[in-house]
Amino acid sequence: MALKETLWHWLEEVADHTRIEWSELALIQAERNDEVKAGEWSAAARLKCDKCGEEQLLKHPDVVTACGKCGEQAFHRKEFK
Ligand SMILES: [Zn+2]
Repeated sequence: MALKETLWHWLEEVADHTRIEWSELALIQAERNDEVKAGEWSAAARLKCDKCGEEQLLKHPDVVTACGKCGEQAFHRKEFK
């Protein structure tokens, strides 16, 4: 019993629940539209700045950051290849 409880706690700590949630969120967002804003989660994609056209590469689902070139917060997602 004690061992079982310890294992359960360990599993809860180790299991990466948040990563699963992020992936789901990114999937929902990808289906919704191609517009992304800084601070939002995006699926792996190339994000093109709405203002200057600078591209931001997301190799995995991640939080979108403001454009490194002009500071713009709005992007359009391009298919990741
Ligand atoms: Zn820009």
